[in-house]
Amino acid sequence: MAYVIGDDCISCGACAGECPVSCISEGDGKYVIDANECLECGACAGVCPVDAPKAE
Ligand code: SF4
Ligand code: SF4
Repeated sequence: MAYVIGDDCISCGACAGECPVSCISEGDGKYVIDANECLECGACAGVCPVDAPKAE
């Protein structure tokens, strides 16, 4: 289980700075979450302007 960033991500970068385990990085066209590191804290979803990170 982990959060996953959807295609509506606009690559603003806000979420990466909020992640307590720094598992969000810039990918090709959107930011991506390392599912092996994600703690499901929801901090990324809380700051995202387009609600792109979803709990899977
Ligand atoms: Fe990081 Fe928390 Fe978002 Fe997982 S849910 S990517 S741990 S901020
Ligand atoms: Fe993408 Fe939302 Fe993260 Fe910005 S905060 S990089 S729009 S997932």
